Amino acid sequence: MNKIKEFTKRYISADLPMRLCVFNMMTVVGVIAGVVSLITTYMMKINNGQVIPMAVAMLALIFFMYLANYKGRLNLAAALICSSMGFVLFPEMFIKGGGIYSGMPVWFMLVIVFSAILIEGKLKYIIILVLIIEDCSLIIFAYLHPERLNYFNGDDMVFMDVAQSIFFVGVCIASIISFQLYMYDIAYKRAEEAVKEAEAANMAKSDFLASMSHEIRTPMGVIIGMNEMIQRESNQENIVDYSEDVSRAAKLLLSIINDILDFSKIESGKMNIVESDYDIKLLISDVLDMAKIKQEQTGIDFEVKIDESIPRKYYGDDLRIKQCLINIISNAFKYTEKGKIVFEVSGVSTGEQESLTFSVTDTGIGIKPEDKEKLFESFVRLDEVHNRGIQGTGLGLNITASLLCLMNSELKVESEFGKGSRFYFTINQQIIDHTKLCDEETDNHVKEEYVSEFTAPDAQVLVVDDSKINLKVFKTLLKRTQITIDTAQSGEEAIEILRNKQYDIVFMDHMMPGLDGEETFKKLVEESIIGDTPTIMLTANAILGMREHFIEIGFTDYLTKPIEYIKLEEMLRKYLHMM
Ligand code: ADP
Repeated sequence: MNKIKEFTKRYISADLPMRLCVFNMMTVVGVIAGVVSLITTYMMKINNGQVIPMAVAMLALIFFMYLANYKGRLNLAAALICSSMGFVLFPEMFIKGGGIYSGMPVWFMLVIVFSAILIEGKLKYIIILVLIIEDCSLIIFAYLHPERLNYFNGDDMVFMDVAQSIFFVGVCIASIISFQLYMYDIAYKRAEEAVKEAEAANMAKSDFLASMSHEIRTPMGVIIGMNEMIQRESNQENIVDYSEDVSRAAKLLLSIINDILDFSKIESGKMNIVESDYDIKLLISDVLDMAKIKQEQTGIDFEVKIDESIPRKYYGDDLRIKQCLINIISNAFKYTEKGKIVFEVSGVSTGEQESLTFSVTDTGIGIKPEDKEKLFESFVRLDEVHNRGIQGTGLGLNITASLLCLMNSELKVESEFGKGSRFYFTINQQIIDHTKLCDEETDNHVKEEYVSEFTAPDAQVLVVDDSKINLKVFKTLLKRTQITIDTAQSGEEAIEILRNKQYDIVFMDHMMPGLDGEETFKKLVEESIIGDTPTIMLTANAILGMREHFIEIGFTDYLTKPIEYIKLEEMLRKYLHMM
Protein backbone atom coordinates (compact mmCIF):
# COMPACT_ATOMS: atom_id res chain seq x y z
CA MET A 1 0.00 0.00 0.00
CA ASN A 2 2.81 2.36 0.97
CA LYS A 3 4.60 1.58 -2.27
CA ILE A 4 1.48 2.48 -4.26
CA LYS A 5 1.21 5.75 -2.32
CA GLU A 6 4.86 6.53 -2.95
CA PHE A 7 4.48 5.69 -6.65
CA THR A 8 1.40 7.90 -6.96
CA LYS A 9 3.15 10.76 -5.17
CA ARG A 10 6.18 10.45 -7.43
CA TYR A 11 4.41 10.11 -10.80
CA ILE A 12 0.80 11.24 -10.51
CA SER A 13 0.87 14.12 -8.08
CA ALA A 14 -0.78 17.48 -8.69
CA ASP A 15 2.58 19.09 -7.94
CA LEU A 16 4.02 17.79 -11.23
CA PRO A 17 3.58 19.79 -14.43
CA MET A 18 0.04 19.03 -15.60
CA ARG A 19 0.95 17.41 -18.94
CA LEU A 20 3.56 15.14 -17.36
CA CYS A 21 1.09 14.08 -14.72
CA VAL A 22 -1.60 13.29 -17.32
CA PHE A 23 1.01 11.48 -19.44
CA ASN A 24 2.03 9.28 -16.49
CA MET A 25 -1.58 8.63 -15.58
CA MET A 26 -2.44 7.59 -19.16
CA THR A 27 0.66 5.43 -19.50
CA VAL A 28 -0.02 3.66 -16.20
CA VAL A 29 -3.66 3.07 -17.20
CA GLY A 30 -2.39 1.88 -20.62
CA VAL A 31 0.07 -0.55 -19.03
CA ILE A 32 -2.58 -1.92 -16.62
CA ALA A 33 -5.14 -2.21 -19.43
CA GLY A 34 -2.54 -3.89 -21.64
CA VAL A 35 -1.51 -6.36 -18.95
CA VAL A 36 -5.13 -7.29 -18.16
CA SER A 37 -5.87 -7.56 -21.89
CA LEU A 38 -2.79 -9.74 -22.37
CA ILE A 39 -3.85 -12.08 -19.58
CA THR A 40 -7.44 -12.35 -20.90
CA THR A 41 -6.27 -12.84 -24.47
CA TYR A 42 -3.82 -15.52 -23.35
CA MET A 43 -6.18 -17.26 -20.98
CA MET A 44 -9.13 -17.28 -23.33
CA LYS A 45 -6.87 -18.09 -26.26
CA ILE A 46 -8.70 -15.42 -28.24
CA ASN A 47 -5.93 -14.62 -30.66
CA ASN A 48 -2.42 -15.61 -29.87
CA GLY A 49 -1.00 -13.43 -32.64
CA GLN A 50 -1.62 -10.38 -30.45
CA VAL A 51 0.29 -11.44 -27.38
CA ILE A 52 3.83 -10.64 -28.49
CA PRO A 53 3.13 -7.18 -29.97
CA MET A 54 1.11 -6.33 -26.86
CA ALA A 55 3.94 -7.39 -24.54
CA VAL A 56 6.43 -5.34 -26.57
CA ALA A 57 4.06 -2.39 -26.36
CA MET A 58 3.91 -2.65 -22.56
CA LEU A 59 7.71 -2.57 -22.35
CA ALA A 60 7.81 0.37 -24.74
CA LEU A 61 5.29 2.25 -22.56
CA ILE A 62 7.54 1.80 -19.53
CA PHE A 63 10.54 3.05 -21.53
CA PHE A 64 8.60 6.15 -22.69
CA MET A 65 7.63 6.88 -19.09
CA TYR A 66 11.31 6.79 -18.17
CA LEU A 67 12.11 9.16 -21.08
CA ALA A 68 9.48 11.67 -19.94
CA ASN A 69 10.20 11.53 -16.21
CA TYR A 70 13.96 11.14 -16.09
CA LYS A 71 15.16 12.65 -19.37
CA GLY A 72 12.77 15.59 -19.56
CA ARG A 73 11.64 14.54 -23.09
CA LEU A 74 7.91 14.55 -22.49
CA ASN A 75 6.86 15.70 -25.96
CA LEU A 76 9.14 13.17 -27.64
CA ALA A 77 7.90 10.37 -25.37
CA ALA A 78 4.28 11.33 -26.04
CA ALA A 79 4.87 11.50 -29.81
CA LEU A 80 6.67 8.12 -29.73
CA ILE A 81 3.89 6.46 -27.72
CA CYS A 82 1.17 7.76 -29.99
CA SER A 83 3.12 6.97 -33.17
CA SER A 84 4.13 3.45 -32.16
CA MET A 85 0.59 2.63 -31.06
CA GLY A 86 -1.11 4.41 -33.92
CA PHE A 87 1.27 3.57 -36.76
CA VAL A 88 2.65 0.15 -35.77
CA LEU A 89 0.83 -1.72 -33.01
CA PHE A 90 -2.81 -1.00 -33.81
CA PRO A 91 -2.59 -1.39 -37.64
CA GLU A 92 -0.83 -4.72 -37.05
CA MET A 93 -3.53 -5.78 -34.54
CA PHE A 94 -6.24 -4.58 -36.92
CA ILE A 95 -4.93 -6.72 -39.79
CA LYS A 96 -4.22 -9.76 -37.65
CA GLY A 97 -7.01 -9.44 -35.13
CA GLY A 98 -10.30 -9.20 -36.94
CA GLY A 99 -10.34 -5.88 -38.87
CA ILE A 100 -13.59 -4.09 -38.40
CA TYR A 101 -15.12 -7.25 -36.94
CA SER A 102 -13.21 -6.62 -33.72
CA GLY A 103 -12.75 -3.91 -31.08
CA MET A 104 -9.81 -2.34 -32.97
CA PRO A 105 -11.65 0.75 -34.34
CA VAL A 106 -12.36 1.70 -30.73
CA TRP A 107 -8.62 1.53 -29.95
CA PHE A 108 -7.95 3.80 -32.97
CA MET A 109 -10.01 6.48 -31.23
CA LEU A 110 -7.96 6.08 -28.06
CA VAL A 111 -4.73 6.98 -29.88
CA ILE A 112 -6.30 10.09 -31.38
CA VAL A 113 -7.49 11.23 -27.93
CA PHE A 114 -4.02 10.45 -26.48
CA SER A 115 -2.31 12.51 -29.18
CA ALA A 116 -4.65 15.46 -28.75
CA ILE A 117 -4.07 15.58 -25.01
CA LEU A 118 -0.38 14.77 -24.79
CA ILE A 119 1.54 16.11 -27.77
CA GLU A 120 2.36 19.78 -28.07
CA GLY A 121 2.90 22.12 -30.99
CA LYS A 122 2.67 21.44 -34.73
CA LEU A 123 3.69 17.82 -34.24
CA LYS A 124 0.35 17.16 -32.53
CA TYR A 125 -1.67 18.25 -35.57
CA ILE A 126 0.57 16.37 -37.99
CA ILE A 127 0.30 13.11 -36.02
CA ILE A 128 -3.48 13.41 -35.56
CA LEU A 129 -3.98 14.12 -39.27
CA VAL A 130 -1.81 11.19 -40.32
CA LEU A 131 -3.58 8.91 -37.80
CA ILE A 132 -7.02 9.80 -39.17
CA ILE A 133 -5.88 9.28 -42.78
CA GLU A 134 -4.22 6.00 -41.80
CA ASP A 135 -7.25 4.67 -39.87
CA CYS A 136 -9.59 5.48 -42.77
CA SER A 137 -7.16 3.90 -45.24
CA LEU A 138 -7.01 0.72 -43.14
CA ILE A 139 -10.81 0.45 -43.16
CA ILE A 140 -10.91 1.00 -46.94
CA PHE A 141 -8.10 -1.56 -47.32
CA ALA A 142 -10.11 -4.07 -45.25
CA TYR A 143 -13.14 -3.42 -47.46
CA LEU A 144 -11.18 -3.82 -50.69
CA HIS A 145 -8.97 -6.77 -49.62
CA PRO A 146 -10.83 -8.79 -46.99
CA GLU A 147 -8.71 -11.82 -47.93
CA ARG A 148 -5.57 -10.11 -46.52
CA LEU A 149 -7.00 -9.91 -42.96
CA ASN A 150 -7.26 -12.52 -40.17
CA TYR A 151 -10.71 -12.86 -38.61
CA PHE A 152 -12.00 -14.33 -35.36
CA ASN A 153 -13.48 -17.79 -35.46
CA GLY A 154 -17.06 -17.14 -34.64
CA ASP A 155 -19.31 -14.27 -33.51
CA ASP A 156 -18.79 -14.98 -29.80
CA MET A 157 -15.12 -14.01 -30.18
CA VAL A 158 -16.03 -10.85 -32.11
CA PHE A 159 -18.61 -9.81 -29.50
CA MET A 160 -16.18 -10.58 -26.71
CA ASP A 161 -13.37 -8.55 -28.32
CA VAL A 162 -15.62 -5.56 -29.04
CA ALA A 163 -17.01 -5.60 -25.50
CA GLN A 164 -13.56 -5.92 -23.98
CA SER A 165 -12.20 -3.06 -26.16
CA ILE A 166 -15.10 -0.78 -25.36
CA PHE A 167 -14.64 -1.52 -21.67
CA PHE A 168 -10.91 -0.74 -21.59
CA VAL A 169 -10.94 2.19 -23.99
CA GLY A 170 -13.99 3.62 -22.19
CA VAL A 171 -12.27 3.33 -18.82
CA CYS A 172 -9.10 4.90 -20.29
CA ILE A 173 -10.85 7.87 -21.93
CA ALA A 174 -13.16 8.49 -18.96
CA SER A 175 -10.30 8.38 -16.46
CA ILE A 176 -8.03 10.54 -18.59
CA ILE A 177 -10.63 13.23 -19.11
CA SER A 178 -11.82 13.15 -15.49
CA PHE A 179 -8.25 13.25 -14.29
CA GLN A 180 -7.45 16.15 -16.56
CA LEU A 181 -10.50 18.07 -15.36
CA TYR A 182 -9.47 17.34 -11.78
CA MET A 183 -5.99 18.70 -12.55
CA TYR A 184 -7.54 21.80 -14.15
CA ASP A 185 -9.66 22.34 -11.04
CA ILE A 186 -6.61 22.13 -8.82
CA ALA A 187 -4.63 24.48 -11.09
CA TYR A 188 -7.57 26.90 -11.23
CA LYS A 189 -7.98 26.90 -7.45
CA ARG A 190 -4.26 27.44 -7.00
CA ALA A 191 -4.29 30.32 -9.48
CA GLU A 192 -7.27 31.84 -7.68
CA GLU A 193 -5.48 31.54 -4.34
CA ALA A 194 -2.32 33.06 -5.86
CA VAL A 195 -4.34 36.02 -7.17
CA LYS A 196 -5.98 36.48 -3.76
CA GLU A 197 -2.61 36.30 -2.03
CA ALA A 198 -1.12 38.78 -4.49
CA GLU A 199 -4.06 41.14 -3.96
CA ALA A 200 -3.73 40.85 -0.19
CA ALA A 201 0.02 41.48 -0.40
CA ASN A 202 -0.61 44.49 -2.61
CA MET A 203 -3.20 45.86 -0.20
CA ALA A 204 -0.80 45.30 2.70
CA LYS A 205 1.90 47.15 0.77
CA SER A 206 -0.43 50.07 0.00
CA ASP A 207 -1.64 50.22 3.61
CA PHE A 208 1.93 50.10 4.84
CA LEU A 209 2.98 52.88 2.48
CA ALA A 210 -0.03 54.98 3.44
CA SER A 211 0.45 54.58 7.18
CA MET A 212 4.21 54.99 6.95
CA SER A 213 3.94 58.23 5.01
CA HIS A 214 1.18 59.35 7.35
CA GLU A 215 3.42 58.70 10.35
CA ILE A 216 6.33 60.52 8.72
CA ARG A 217 4.27 63.60 7.97
CA THR A 218 3.75 64.26 11.69
CA PRO A 219 7.43 64.55 12.71
CA MET A 220 8.05 66.38 9.43
CA GLY A 221 5.61 69.00 10.70
CA VAL A 222 7.78 69.50 13.73
CA ILE A 223 10.95 69.77 11.65
CA ILE A 224 9.44 72.27 9.22
CA GLY A 225 7.70 74.29 11.95
CA MET A 226 10.70 74.50 14.27
CA ASN A 227 12.98 75.29 11.37
CA GLU A 228 10.71 78.14 10.38
CA MET A 229 11.05 79.47 13.91
CA ILE A 230 14.84 79.31 13.64
CA GLN A 231 14.69 81.27 10.38
CA ARG A 232 12.41 83.85 11.91
CA GLU A 233 14.17 84.29 15.20
CA SER A 234 17.84 83.82 14.47
CA ASN A 235 20.01 86.82 13.69
CA GLN A 236 23.07 84.74 12.90
CA GLU A 237 23.65 84.50 9.17
CA ASN A 238 25.26 81.05 9.22
CA ILE A 239 22.41 79.62 11.33
CA VAL A 240 19.85 81.01 8.90
CA ASP A 241 21.89 79.48 6.07
CA TYR A 242 21.88 76.07 7.73
CA SER A 243 18.23 76.29 8.40
CA GLU A 244 17.50 77.16 4.78
CA ASP A 245 19.26 73.92 3.82
CA VAL A 246 17.15 72.06 6.36
CA SER A 247 14.06 73.70 4.92
CA ARG A 248 14.94 72.66 1.33
CA ALA A 249 15.69 69.08 2.39
CA ALA A 250 12.52 68.89 4.49
CA LYS A 251 10.38 70.12 1.60
CA LEU A 252 11.95 67.59 -0.76
CA LEU A 253 11.35 64.82 1.75
CA LEU A 254 7.78 65.96 2.19
CA SER A 255 7.20 65.91 -1.57
CA ILE A 256 8.56 62.34 -1.73
CA ILE A 257 6.27 61.32 1.13
CA ASN A 258 3.34 62.96 -0.62
CA ASP A 259 4.20 61.03 -3.80
CA ILE A 260 4.27 57.76 -1.87
CA LEU A 261 0.95 58.62 -0.23
CA ASP A 262 -0.57 59.44 -3.63
CA PHE A 263 0.87 56.29 -5.14
CA SER A 264 -0.57 54.09 -2.39
CA LYS A 265 -3.94 55.81 -2.70
CA ILE A 266 -3.96 55.19 -6.46
CA GLU A 267 -2.89 51.56 -5.95
CA SER A 268 -5.63 50.89 -3.43
CA GLY A 269 -8.25 52.71 -5.53
CA LYS A 270 -8.75 55.42 -2.89
CA MET A 271 -7.66 58.34 -5.05
CA ASN A 272 -10.60 60.64 -5.75
CA ILE A 273 -10.86 63.38 -8.28
CA VAL A 274 -12.49 66.40 -6.63
CA GLU A 275 -14.04 68.74 -9.16
CA SER A 276 -14.97 72.36 -8.62
CA ASP A 277 -14.96 75.67 -10.50
CA TYR A 278 -11.49 77.01 -11.10
CA ASP A 279 -9.66 79.76 -12.89
CA ILE A 280 -7.03 78.50 -15.32
CA LYS A 281 -5.13 81.74 -14.94
CA LEU A 282 -4.47 80.94 -11.29
CA LEU A 283 -3.57 77.37 -12.16
CA ILE A 284 -1.03 78.51 -14.77
CA SER A 285 0.28 81.21 -12.47
CA ASP A 286 1.00 78.65 -9.71
CA VAL A 287 2.77 76.39 -12.20
CA LEU A 288 4.82 79.32 -13.49
CA ASP A 289 5.79 80.30 -9.93
CA MET A 290 7.27 76.84 -9.46
CA ALA A 291 8.96 76.92 -12.88
CA LYS A 292 10.47 80.31 -12.09
CA ILE A 293 12.18 78.91 -9.00
CA LYS A 294 13.56 75.98 -11.03
CA GLN A 295 14.69 78.34 -13.78
CA GLU A 296 16.60 80.45 -11.24
CA GLN A 297 18.19 77.33 -9.77
CA THR A 298 19.23 75.76 -13.09
CA GLY A 299 19.66 78.66 -15.50
CA ILE A 300 17.72 76.78 -18.21
CA ASP A 301 15.50 79.01 -20.40
CA PHE A 302 11.81 78.61 -19.80
CA GLU A 303 9.49 79.77 -22.54
CA VAL A 304 5.74 80.06 -22.06
CA LYS A 305 3.24 79.97 -24.94
CA ILE A 306 -0.33 80.38 -23.80
CA ASP A 307 -3.22 80.58 -26.22
CA GLU A 308 -4.89 83.71 -24.84
CA SER A 309 -8.13 82.96 -26.64
CA ILE A 310 -9.06 80.06 -24.37
CA PRO A 311 -11.84 80.60 -21.84
CA ARG A 312 -10.80 81.35 -18.31
CA LYS A 313 -13.03 79.38 -15.96
CA TYR A 314 -13.65 75.65 -15.97
CA TYR A 315 -15.10 72.88 -13.87
CA GLY A 316 -12.56 70.18 -12.96
CA ASP A 317 -9.85 69.17 -10.54
CA ASP A 318 -7.36 72.00 -10.89
CA LEU A 319 -5.19 70.71 -8.02
CA ARG A 320 -4.58 67.40 -9.76
CA ILE A 321 -3.99 69.05 -13.17
CA LYS A 322 -1.49 71.33 -11.45
CA GLN A 323 0.18 68.35 -9.81
CA CYS A 324 0.58 66.66 -13.23
CA LEU A 325 2.04 69.81 -14.78
CA ILE A 326 4.42 70.37 -11.88
CA ASN A 327 5.62 66.78 -12.22
CA ILE A 328 6.39 66.98 -15.91
CA ILE A 329 7.90 70.47 -15.71
CA SER A 330 10.17 69.45 -12.79
CA ASN A 331 11.24 66.41 -14.82
CA ALA A 332 12.01 68.65 -17.81
CA PHE A 333 14.28 70.74 -15.57
CA LYS A 334 15.80 67.65 -13.96
CA TYR A 335 16.65 65.92 -17.24
CA THR A 336 17.79 68.97 -19.26
CA GLU A 337 21.33 70.22 -18.95
CA LYS A 338 21.30 72.90 -21.62
CA GLY A 339 18.88 74.46 -24.07
CA LYS A 340 15.35 75.38 -23.15
CA ILE A 341 12.00 74.20 -21.93
CA VAL A 342 8.79 75.31 -23.59
CA PHE A 343 5.49 75.18 -21.76
CA GLU A 344 2.41 75.49 -23.99
CA VAL A 345 -1.28 75.68 -23.22
CA SER A 346 -3.83 75.65 -26.03
CA GLY A 347 -7.48 74.80 -26.37
CA VAL A 348 -10.21 73.87 -28.79
CA SER A 349 -13.81 74.71 -27.91
CA THR A 350 -16.69 72.37 -28.61
CA GLY A 351 -19.65 74.32 -27.26
CA GLU A 352 -19.69 73.94 -23.50
CA GLN A 353 -16.51 71.87 -23.41
CA GLU A 354 -12.92 72.90 -23.96
CA SER A 355 -10.25 70.46 -25.06
CA LEU A 356 -7.22 71.82 -23.25
CA THR A 357 -3.78 70.67 -24.32
CA PHE A 358 -0.84 71.14 -21.96
CA SER A 359 2.58 70.44 -23.38
CA VAL A 360 6.13 70.58 -22.00
CA THR A 361 9.01 70.29 -24.49
CA ASP A 362 12.63 70.10 -23.43
CA THR A 363 16.03 69.84 -25.10
CA GLY A 364 17.23 67.33 -22.50
CA ILE A 365 18.66 63.84 -22.49
CA GLY A 366 15.68 62.27 -24.25
CA ILE A 367 14.44 58.70 -23.93
CA LYS A 368 15.52 55.61 -25.87
CA PRO A 369 12.63 54.04 -27.85
CA GLU A 370 13.05 50.74 -25.95
CA ASP A 371 12.73 52.58 -22.61
CA LYS A 372 9.48 54.34 -23.47
CA GLU A 373 7.22 51.57 -22.22
CA LYS A 374 9.03 51.46 -18.86
CA LEU A 375 8.48 55.18 -18.39
CA PHE A 376 5.19 54.96 -16.51
CA GLU A 377 6.09 51.98 -14.32
CA SER A 378 6.25 52.72 -10.61
CA PHE A 379 9.67 53.02 -8.97
CA VAL A 380 11.37 52.65 -12.37
CA ARG A 381 14.06 55.15 -13.31
CA LEU A 382 15.71 54.99 -16.70
CA ASP A 383 19.44 54.96 -17.21
CA GLU A 384 20.17 54.69 -13.47
CA VAL A 385 23.93 54.96 -14.09
CA HIS A 386 23.84 58.35 -15.81
CA ASN A 387 20.97 59.70 -13.75
CA ARG A 388 22.44 58.68 -10.41
CA GLY A 389 23.07 62.29 -9.43
CA ILE A 390 19.48 63.34 -10.17
CA GLN A 391 17.05 63.07 -7.29
CA GLY A 392 13.96 61.01 -7.91
CA THR A 393 11.92 58.00 -6.92
CA GLY A 394 10.52 56.89 -10.27
CA LEU A 395 7.00 57.64 -9.04
CA GLY A 396 6.25 61.03 -10.63
CA LEU A 397 5.26 59.86 -14.12
CA ASN A 398 3.38 56.86 -12.78
CA ILE A 399 1.29 59.16 -10.55
CA THR A 400 0.84 61.69 -13.37
CA ALA A 401 -0.31 59.01 -15.82
CA SER A 402 -2.69 57.51 -13.24
CA LEU A 403 -4.17 60.89 -12.28
CA LEU A 404 -4.71 61.77 -15.94
CA CYS A 405 -6.34 58.41 -16.48
CA LEU A 406 -8.74 59.16 -13.57
CA MET A 407 -9.56 62.43 -15.35
CA ASN A 408 -10.17 60.59 -18.66
CA SER A 409 -7.00 61.89 -20.20
CA GLU A 410 -3.71 60.29 -21.16
CA LEU A 411 -0.09 61.30 -20.74
CA LYS A 412 1.68 61.14 -24.09
CA VAL A 413 5.37 61.34 -24.85
CA GLU A 414 7.44 61.99 -27.94
CA SER A 415 11.17 61.78 -27.50
CA GLU A 416 14.43 61.48 -29.34
CA PHE A 417 17.33 60.10 -27.37
CA GLY A 418 20.00 62.76 -26.87
CA LYS A 419 17.81 65.53 -28.32
CA GLY A 420 14.88 66.05 -26.01
CA SER A 421 11.35 65.09 -25.12
CA ARG A 422 7.82 66.38 -25.24
CA PHE A 423 5.31 65.33 -22.61
CA TYR A 424 1.73 66.40 -23.26
CA PHE A 425 -1.89 65.66 -22.50
CA THR A 426 -5.29 66.82 -23.63
CA ILE A 427 -8.07 67.08 -21.11
CA ASN A 428 -11.72 67.94 -21.63
CA GLN A 429 -13.09 70.50 -19.19
CA GLN A 430 -16.53 71.98 -18.89
CA ILE A 431 -16.43 75.76 -19.50
CA ILE A 432 -17.93 77.78 -16.65
CA ASP A 433 -17.22 81.25 -17.96
CA HIS A 434 -16.51 82.01 -21.62
CA THR A 435 -14.52 85.16 -20.80
CA LYS A 436 -11.24 84.71 -22.61
CA LEU A 437 -7.83 84.88 -20.97
CA CYS A 438 -6.94 87.89 -23.15
CA ASP A 439 -10.11 89.75 -22.15
CA GLU A 440 -8.50 90.81 -18.91
CA GLU A 441 -5.10 92.08 -17.97
CA THR A 442 -2.80 89.13 -17.70
CA ASP A 443 -0.76 90.10 -14.73
CA ASN A 444 -3.43 91.22 -12.32
CA HIS A 445 -2.85 88.09 -10.32
CA VAL A 446 -0.34 89.29 -7.82
CA LYS A 447 0.20 86.95 -4.95
CA GLU A 448 -0.22 88.60 -1.61
CA GLU A 449 3.04 88.77 0.24
CA TYR A 450 2.91 87.24 3.67
CA VAL A 451 2.51 89.95 6.29
CA SER A 452 3.16 88.78 9.76
CA GLU A 453 1.47 91.68 11.49
CA PHE A 454 -1.61 89.76 12.44
CA THR A 455 -2.28 89.93 16.16
CA ALA A 456 -5.27 88.98 18.27
CA PRO A 457 -4.39 89.54 21.94
CA ASP A 458 -7.95 88.92 23.11
CA ALA A 459 -8.38 85.60 21.33
CA GLN A 460 -8.41 82.35 23.29
CA VAL A 461 -7.48 79.16 21.46
CA LEU A 462 -7.29 75.57 22.67
CA VAL A 463 -5.02 73.11 20.86
CA VAL A 464 -5.42 69.40 21.49
CA ASP A 465 -2.59 67.09 20.40
CA ASP A 466 -0.98 64.12 22.10
CA SER A 467 2.45 65.19 20.88
CA LYS A 468 4.14 67.74 23.17
CA ILE A 469 6.45 68.88 20.40
CA ASN A 470 3.52 69.52 18.05
CA LEU A 471 1.93 71.68 20.74
CA LYS A 472 5.19 73.55 21.09
CA VAL A 473 5.42 74.13 17.32
CA PHE A 474 1.86 75.41 17.29
CA LYS A 475 2.47 77.80 20.17
CA THR A 476 5.77 79.05 18.78
CA LEU A 477 4.31 79.64 15.32
CA LEU A 478 1.64 81.86 16.87
CA LYS A 479 3.87 83.58 19.41
CA ARG A 480 3.80 86.95 17.64
CA THR A 481 0.03 86.96 17.33
CA GLN A 482 -0.31 87.34 21.11
CA ILE A 483 -3.19 84.88 21.08
CA THR A 484 -3.69 83.03 24.38
CA ILE A 485 -3.05 79.39 23.58
CA ASP A 486 -4.01 76.64 26.00
CA THR A 487 -3.09 73.07 25.29
CA ALA A 488 -4.43 69.62 26.07
CA GLN A 489 -2.57 66.38 25.47
CA SER A 490 -5.56 64.08 25.10
CA GLY A 491 -9.21 64.06 24.19
CA GLU A 492 -10.15 63.40 27.82
CA GLU A 493 -8.10 66.38 29.04
CA ALA A 494 -9.64 68.60 26.36
CA ILE A 495 -13.15 67.66 27.53
CA GLU A 496 -12.24 68.61 31.13
CA ILE A 497 -10.75 71.94 30.05
CA LEU A 498 -13.70 72.79 27.80
CA ARG A 499 -16.18 72.05 30.61
CA ASN A 500 -14.67 74.99 32.52
CA LYS A 501 -13.60 77.45 29.85
CA GLN A 502 -14.94 78.91 26.61
CA TYR A 503 -12.61 79.32 23.63
CA ASP A 504 -12.83 81.21 20.35
CA ILE A 505 -11.42 78.30 18.38
CA VAL A 506 -10.48 74.70 19.19
CA PHE A 507 -7.84 72.89 17.10
CA MET A 508 -8.19 69.13 17.51
CA ASP A 509 -5.65 66.52 16.42
CA HIS A 510 -7.10 63.55 14.54
CA MET A 511 -5.02 60.58 15.68
CA MET A 512 -4.63 60.41 19.46
CA PRO A 513 -4.35 57.47 21.83
CA GLY A 514 -7.49 57.03 23.95
CA LEU A 515 -10.23 59.23 22.53
CA ASP A 516 -9.20 60.33 19.05
CA GLY A 517 -10.17 63.68 17.53
CA GLU A 518 -13.47 62.44 16.08
CA GLU A 519 -14.54 60.65 19.26
CA THR A 520 -13.61 63.62 21.48
CA PHE A 521 -15.60 65.93 19.24
CA LYS A 522 -18.63 63.62 19.30
CA LYS A 523 -18.54 63.58 23.13
CA LEU A 524 -18.24 67.35 23.26
CA VAL A 525 -21.31 67.68 21.05
CA GLU A 526 -23.32 64.96 22.83
CA GLU A 527 -22.69 66.53 26.22
CA SER A 528 -23.33 70.04 24.80
CA ILE A 529 -19.93 71.20 26.00
CA ILE A 530 -18.65 72.78 22.82
CA GLY A 531 -21.67 74.84 21.71
CA ASP A 532 -20.91 76.60 18.44
CA THR A 533 -17.19 77.13 19.03
CA PRO A 534 -15.42 76.64 15.66
CA THR A 535 -13.55 73.35 15.87
CA ILE A 536 -10.80 72.66 13.38
CA MET A 537 -9.50 69.17 12.73
CA LEU A 538 -5.72 68.85 12.49
CA THR A 539 -4.76 65.86 10.42
CA ALA A 540 -1.77 64.35 8.68
CA ASN A 541 -4.25 62.43 6.56
CA ALA A 542 -4.10 64.48 3.41
CA ILE A 543 -6.53 62.35 1.44
CA LEU A 544 -8.84 64.40 -0.72
CA GLY A 545 -12.44 64.17 0.35
CA MET A 546 -11.39 64.25 4.02
CA ARG A 547 -12.58 67.83 4.34
CA GLU A 548 -16.09 66.74 3.35
CA HIS A 549 -15.88 63.87 5.82
CA PHE A 550 -14.85 66.09 8.75
CA ILE A 551 -17.40 68.75 7.91
CA GLU A 552 -20.10 66.11 7.63
CA ILE A 553 -19.44 64.97 11.19
CA GLY A 554 -19.63 68.54 12.43
CA PHE A 555 -16.12 70.00 12.35
CA THR A 556 -15.98 73.58 11.14
CA ASP A 557 -12.91 73.05 8.96
CA TYR A 558 -9.69 71.12 8.77
CA LEU A 559 -6.00 71.85 8.48
CA THR A 560 -3.38 69.45 7.18
CA LYS A 561 -0.16 68.71 8.98
CA PRO A 562 2.62 69.79 8.64
CA ILE A 563 0.90 73.05 9.47
CA GLU A 564 1.75 75.86 7.11
CA TYR A 565 1.79 79.12 8.95
CA ILE A 566 -0.01 81.05 6.21
CA LYS A 567 -2.90 78.60 6.20
CA LEU A 568 -3.07 78.60 9.98
CA GLU A 569 -3.19 82.37 10.03
CA GLU A 570 -5.85 82.41 7.31
CA MET A 571 -7.95 80.06 9.39
CA LEU A 572 -7.51 82.13 12.55
CA ARG A 573 -8.47 85.31 10.72
CA LYS A 574 -11.49 83.60 9.22
CA TYR A 575 -12.88 82.09 12.42
CA LEU A 576 -11.93 85.04 14.63
CA HIS A 577 -13.83 87.11 12.03
CA MET A 578 -10.82 89.30 11.29
CA MET A 579 -10.81 88.99 7.50
P1 ADP B 1 11.90 60.35 -11.23
O1 ADP B 1 11.54 60.63 -9.81
O2 ADP B 1 12.99 59.35 -11.37
O3 ADP B 1 12.13 61.59 -12.03
P2 ADP B 1 9.57 59.91 -12.87
O4 ADP B 1 8.50 58.88 -12.73
O5 ADP B 1 9.16 61.33 -12.82
O6 ADP B 1 10.63 59.58 -11.76
O7 ADP B 1 10.32 59.61 -14.22
C1 ADP B 1 10.72 58.28 -14.51
C2 ADP B 1 11.95 58.28 -15.39
O8 ADP B 1 11.62 58.80 -16.69
C3 ADP B 1 13.06 59.18 -14.88
O9 ADP B 1 13.88 58.49 -13.96
C4 ADP B 1 13.80 59.53 -16.17
O10 ADP B 1 14.72 58.52 -16.48
C5 ADP B 1 12.70 59.51 -17.24
N1 ADP B 1 12.23 60.87 -17.58
C6 ADP B 1 11.18 61.53 -17.07
N2 ADP B 1 11.04 62.75 -17.64
C7 ADP B 1 12.04 62.87 -18.52
C8 ADP B 1 12.45 63.91 -19.44
N3 ADP B 1 11.78 65.06 -19.53
N4 ADP B 1 13.53 63.65 -20.21
C9 ADP B 1 14.19 62.49 -20.12
N5 ADP B 1 13.87 61.48 -19.28
C10 ADP B 1 12.81 61.65 -18.50
